[in-house]
Amino acid sequence: MAARARAMKAEGIDVISMSLGEPDFDTPVSIRRAAQEAIEHHWSHYGPITGIPELRKAIAVQQNTIQSNAISWSAEDVIVSVGAKMAIYNAIQTLINPGDEVIIPMPSWVSYSEMVKLADGIVVPVETQFEDHYCLTPEQLRAALSSKTRMLILCSPNNPTGSVYSKTQMEALVEVLRDWPEVVVLSDEIYNRISYESTEYRVQSTDQITHTSPTMACFTELADRLIIVNGVSKAYAMTGYRVGWLLCKNTEFIHACIRLQGQQITCATMVAQKAAEAALRGDQKCVEQMRQVFAERKELICRLAAEIPGFKFKEPQGAFYLFPDVSAIGTGDEVAERLLEQAHVAVVSGSAFGCPSCIRLSYAISTTEIEEAMRRIKAVLTGERIE
Ligand code: PMP
Repeated sequence: MAARARAMKAEGIDVISMSLGEPDFDTPVSIRRAAQEAIEHHWSHYGPITGIPELRKAIAVQQNTIQSNAISWSAEDVIVSVGAKMAIYNAIQTLINPGDEVIIPMPSWVSYSEMVKLADGIVVPVETQFEDHYCLTPEQLRAALSSKTRMLILCSPNNPTGSVYSKTQMEALVEVLRDWPEVVVLSDEIYNRISYESTEYRVQSTDQITHTSPTMACFTELADRLIIVNGVSKAYAMTGYRVGWLLCKNTEFIHACIRLQGQQITCATMVAQKAAEAALRGDQKCVEQMRQVFAERKELICRLAAEIPGFKFKEPQGAFYLFPDVSAIGTGDEVAERLLEQAHVAVVSGSAFGCPSCIRLSYAISTTEIEEAMRRIKAVLTGERIE
């Protein structure tokens, strides 16, 4: 869809792209400066496989800061990778043997299933419900577990649904997992700082307030079988730097993962790691400012989407996606196609995420573009002429 939107733009058609999966902001200036300084100070050599020690420490400190009464992390529990994507890939490759089952609540981010297949694992998709805001329920989890289950992948705040698991919801899942000690939980918390009904936390190093969604790290009983994934891409608008990480207290897993990563990449790009370190250790105001802009856009898009006949949706609680069910109009594929052709608005069909009755609209675009896109969508779907 993005490629087609680009081709239409190249033909001179004014296409608004709501298909983006990344913040539209520039990387904050202090982080850019840190990258420049890293170049000047010759951070141009190979580094440790696991990541620069100061960055690993900053990651552990940040994770400890945004959770209370929870697992306590240290730098040794952290492996820095080339984006959260690679951290997830490594975790799956390390743990999943042919025939192992991995439970993935659907709809979900596209790559989880493909990565499980690359490891010859078996994807066990669990269809979540609109009424539950597409969150996995304990009953659904219990029904999906089997003696072959090796991993459960959770993503909160969620791409594409925008839902956030509350601590109570997480607790109910942990309760079920108590009977399944072999099952590892991979918790993708990449959108945790873009959260609208979130808890405030004080960042020790800067004494600033930040917001974050609940984390699975609150459940100490999972300590030896929990993998937390995060990165700088979304919170600091640093998608192209490609720095992400995983945290895990299980040393056997960490060592296996290090062996894998050592043969793959040696280490993540050093300059980018220095920039990530600056992001984590520096002023956190930029994160809060971007979160507030996303929150305003979320209010706007929800208000405008509510006026569109056939859009059934729940208000996003995190990330930057609206995920309306459009089955009253057509399939997600049909509606996405129609919106691109007739409204010149690019959205992603829910079929890409295993939910063909929906479409995903990214609101990582300006309020002016959101207003115009929603005006066009409404006009097309109500049969008005677009001016
Ligand atoms: N998890 C989810 C749910 C995502 O949406 C993305 C990026 N689209 C990633 C992981 C990967 O992020 P990164 O840029 O750190 O590789």
